[in-house]
Amino acid sequence: MSAETLISGGTVVTLGENPKVIEDGAVRVRDNLIVQVGRRGDVSADGCKRIDAGGGVIMPGMINAHNHFYSTFACGIALKEDPPTNFVEILQRLWWRLDKVLTLEDVYVSSLTPLCRGLRSGTTTVIDHHASPGAVRGSLDAIARAAGEVGVRTCLCYELSDRDGPEIMQEGLDENEAFLKAHRASGDPMLSAAFGLHASMTLSQETLERAAEVGRALQAGFHVHVAESKFDQKDSLGKYGKRVVHRLADVEMLGSRTICAHCIHLKESEYEALLDSGTNVVHNPQSNMNNAVGAAAVLQMLSMGIQVGLGTDAMTANMLDEMRVAHLLQKHVTADPRAGFVEACQMLFENNRRIASKFFSKPLGALAPDHLADIIVVDYDPVTPLHANNLWGHMMFGLPTASVSLAMVNGAVRMENGRVLGVDEAEVAGKSRELAAKAWERF
Ligand SMILES: [Zn+2]
Repeated sequence: MSAETLISGGTVVTLGENPKVIEDGAVRVRDNLIVQVGRRGDVSADGCKRIDAGGGVIMPGMINAHNHFYSTFACGIALKEDPPTNFVEILQRLWWRLDKVLTLEDVYVSSLTPLCRGLRSGTTTVIDHHASPGAVRGSLDAIARAAGEVGVRTCLCYELSDRDGPEIMQEGLDENEAFLKAHRASGDPMLSAAFGLHASMTLSQETLERAAEVGRALQAGFHVHVAESKFDQKDSLGKYGKRVVHRLADVEMLGSRTICAHCIHLKESEYEALLDSGTNVVHNPQSNMNNAVGAAAVLQMLSMGIQVGLGTDAMTANMLDEMRVAHLLQKHVTADPRAGFVEACQMLFENNRRIASKFFSKPLGALAPDHLADIIVVDYDPVTPLHANNLWGHMMFGLPTASVSLAMVNGAVRMENGRVLGVDEAEVAGKSRELAAKAWERF
C-alpha cells in the first residue's frame, strides 16, 4: 500500500510553469511524487499522514546547479606562499593542492556538512562537480553515501583533467564511466550522474576526445567549467586556435544535458553556439566575485534565450543568499536599478528546475502533480500582501529573512525544525575538524 502525506496549514507557492500562490493550501504526496495541489478544502486528506505547516510558506525545495562539496576543508586554511594574484594562482596554490591530499574518508565527511547546511536552508537537490586526484576511484560513491544519509538528491560527476598526469586522468575517465553506468542501472531517483571535466585549459585534445566518446556512448550530459578566467580562452586559442566553446562544440560536447559553469569570457559566436545547441550555463556570482574573475553577461545570455541557471560553486549552501548576490551584482555592473531582479529569480526558480529535471526520471522544482516530492516549509509570515504578481519581491526581500522549518525530499521528511534527521551534525563537525587538520598537514 502506498504511503500518503498531506502538507497543509500554510500558503502554497507552487512555482513551476504557471506559479500560483494558494492561501490555506495543501499538497498531497504519494510515495515520492506529488499527486495533488490546491486549496485545503479541495485536496483530499483521506488516509494521509498529516503535516502542519504552521502558517508558513509551502514551496518546492531549491536546487543548486553547480557545487563542489570537497571545498569544505578550505575554510581557514593557511597558504605558505604569498596570496594568489590571479585565478590560475588561486587554483595552483589552493584548490589543486587541497583536492590532491583528500582521502575517500575526507570526501565522504567533507560532503556531509554542506549537504546538511543546504537542507537546513531549503536546498534539496545539488549538482556537484568533484575532484580528489589522490583518491579518484570510489570518490563519487563516497559522496553518494553522504547524500543518501543526509537525504539530498544529487547529480554527481568527477572533474576529468590532465593536470595530475596520465594515470590520474585515466582514473578520472574510469570513475565517470563506472558511475554513469552504475547510476543508469540502479534507477535510483535520488541519484543521477553527468560526465565531468575540469576545464579546457587542463584537458589535452586527446583526453577531450576520449571523454566525448565515452560520455556520448553513455548518452551522458557533460559538466565543465568554461571560461571562468581569461586564461582558459588564452590557452585554448594558443594551443588549438579556437575559443573554448567552439573547442567543446567540435567534439560534440554541447547539448541540452550539458552544463557549462561560469561562461564569463565569451564572444558572440560562443553565445550563439550555446544557444543553438540548447546548452545550459550556470552562473556562480559569489565565487566569481571572490576570485575576481569578472561578471558573466547573464542578462545578455538570458535575453538571447540561453538557459542560465544558478549555482554556488561551494561559496554557500544557501540558494536564496546566492540569488540575492546575483541580483545585486547585475545592478552593480550595469549601474541600472532595473537590472537583475527578475533574472536572478528566473535563474533560481525557473531555469534550475529545467536544468535539474533533465537529469532525473521525473520533473522537480515545482509543486505540481507527477513531480518529485521535494517540498520545504519556510517559517515566513509576510508583513505585506503576498500574491502571484509580487512573488519575486517576497522571494528576494522576505523569505531570506526566515528559516526553513521542514524539508521533504523524495516524499520523506529529512529535516525538521533545523535538525537533519538521522545525522548528528555536531559529531560530523568534530570528525570534519579532525580530518581537515590532517589534510592541512599533508597540504
Ligand atoms: Zn566550480
